[in-house]
Amino acid sequence: MRGAIFPAIMKPTRGQVLGYWALLSSALTLSVVFWFSSFANTMDNNAYDWMFRAWAPTPWEPRAMILAIDEPTLIQPGAGMGRVRTILADGLERLTPAKPKLVAIDLTLADEGMDAAVDQRLARVLSTVPNLILDCEMMPDGRSWEYPLPLFRQYAAAVGHAHAHPDRLDAVSREVPLELIAGRERRWSLSLEAFRVDAGAPIMESPGDLEIGKTVIPAARETGRSLKVRYLPPRDDGSPRIQRISFLELKQHPELAERFRDRAVFVGVTAQTLVRDRLFTPYSDRVPTPGVEIHATAYETMRSAAFLVDAPPSTVLAFCVFLMVAIGLTFSRLSGWASYTAGAILLALAHATPNLLFRAGIVFPVTAPLSTAWISTVAAAAWQHFVVRRQLHKSERDRQRYQQAIQFVTHEMRTPLTAIQGSSELMTRYALSDEKRKQMALTINSESKRLARMVQTFLDVERLTEGDMQLKREPFEAAAIVASCVERARPLAERKQMTVIVEPLAGRELTGDRELMEYAFYNLLTNAIKYSPAETRVTVRVTGNNGECRLAVADQGIGMDEKELRNIFTKFYRTKKAEASGEVGTGIGLSIVEQIVTSHGGRIEVESQPGRGSCFTIILPARALHYDGN
Ligand code: ADP
Repeated sequence: MRGAIFPAIMKPTRGQVLGYWALLSSALTLSVVFWFSSFANTMDNNAYDWMFRAWAPTPWEPRAMILAIDEPTLIQPGAGMGRVRTILADGLERLTPAKPKLVAIDLTLADEGMDAAVDQRLARVLSTVPNLILDCEMMPDGRSWEYPLPLFRQYAAAVGHAHAHPDRLDAVSREVPLELIAGRERRWSLSLEAFRVDAGAPIMESPGDLEIGKTVIPAARETGRSLKVRYLPPRDDGSPRIQRISFLELKQHPELAERFRDRAVFVGVTAQTLVRDRLFTPYSDRVPTPGVEIHATAYETMRSAAFLVDAPPSTVLAFCVFLMVAIGLTFSRLSGWASYTAGAILLALAHATPNLLFRAGIVFPVTAPLSTAWISTVAAAAWQHFVVRRQLHKSERDRQRYQQAIQFVTHEMRTPLTAIQGSSELMTRYALSDEKRKQMALTINSESKRLARMVQTFLDVERLTEGDMQLKREPFEAAAIVASCVERARPLAERKQMTVIVEPLAGRELTGDRELMEYAFYNLLTNAIKYSPAETRVTVRVTGNNGECRLAVADQGIGMDEKELRNIFTKFYRTKKAEASGEVGTGIGLSIVEQIVTSHGGRIEVESQPGRGSCFTIILPARALHYDGN
């Protein structure tokens, strides 16, 4: 790692940032893919039913009523489905004087009855029914319609289909198709026809909706004009909200007919044993609901404009992306409890949004936002937890080494300071000869210069690594800095009875900052002395060709293995052998050397073997001097 001597505030690396967002994007993709699975569909259905019951609008008093063919009606003597047309004619005869608003009959009247006289009588009764709507059925092959006999149809204000669309996964009829097409013929549903006849206005079509009078029904053509039915909760006594009166009750209590005055009457079979399809609603997940009630409720949904519409998938996707990004930013920008609190708020938002929207009539799936929010939160929190912990460890290590570096620097400074202090004290306390006084003044001068140079070098390196220092660009001779460094290092070598051999130097002119380059080379030289046993040799060599200058320092010291070699330029890294050698060090030197050399357009090569010694070579662009070849 490059960087200033002083540890910077830990920032995640580019790779870490990319990895983090790649992880979150995968979480999002996973959630979106999951959203389309049948498992998620079932969960969304359950959530829909739950919200449907939890956020039901205040129930209104329905205009629809059901005239029902129930079990008791069918088991009266002489009744049964075979005589349904007689039952129907009897019932309608009693009903009509009460002047219902409309009568929609959800019964097949397509085939010739067994008794022509019964059919004739039914036709006569139908002719007196106001706003009669009859049922037509799609043939099982889906290619044509089966209509009521013309005998009956002639009195109908409209003919509509009475099909429902139970969900393919759980058979709950949440929607009814307002439009069905068989062959080339399109039929509206019984409920829509009832609503149209009731409103006395035509159906205006557009791709997104149907308009009848002032009511805009959100039923897009691309969904087969599907309408979500707003089922009404049962009354407090458990009876269905849309009132039912059976044919038998009407027969026994003809005065009940008055209740149908001005009502939209839906006539159909409610006898459980005879209901053709077993249809369920979000309120009846155990007891099936008769089809006629579903159509009556669809009519009520339109009449009270209590519509529910699906949120567009693009909006759902956008919300999921928003959640993922918000959670990602929360955990990368905030830390500790703040990030967990913000994460919890976003999770709550993901849970609340489908509920809030449902109350506003918008059906928003729950699985996609919830899985996005949960997977993203877990992934982001886990990532940040582990990365932050790793970084904490690292910065703790850096801090310790930084302290060591400071100790080292202050230690280095103490030597010239002691010399300056000692000399100045001697000069003030004692009467010294002129010669001695001059010598001391010179010492003070050279040591303070050394101190200043040291401070300058540290500051320069620091600024260099921060990238805000213009490098000096002056020419200097490679041989000159080598000679000066060897001169300075010789006392160190002598202390260990080591020899420093300088091989004949090639004349090379370098360009750059001489002070910094000298600092770099001196570092290599002192390392070679530091990490070598006593009575060994250090060889210094300057060679050059093809516009390059190679400054090499070879020792016979402890050496390094390949793994250590890969790390020595990392700030604060020290090998185990170096630690064990007892030599003082900070592990910063080589990182600075590398910084200096690369900023001069050069590079460093290292060869080393454990126990056999090392050779560090600085390679720099250079110009041959005229006396090259010495
Ligand atoms: P320092 O010498 O202060 O520890 P450096 O950055 O100069 O820091 O060197 C980093 C590490 O590289 C040293 O601690 C040592 O482990 C290893 N190293 C450097 N030069 C040599 C060498 N000539 N021989 C063996 N190991 C070396």
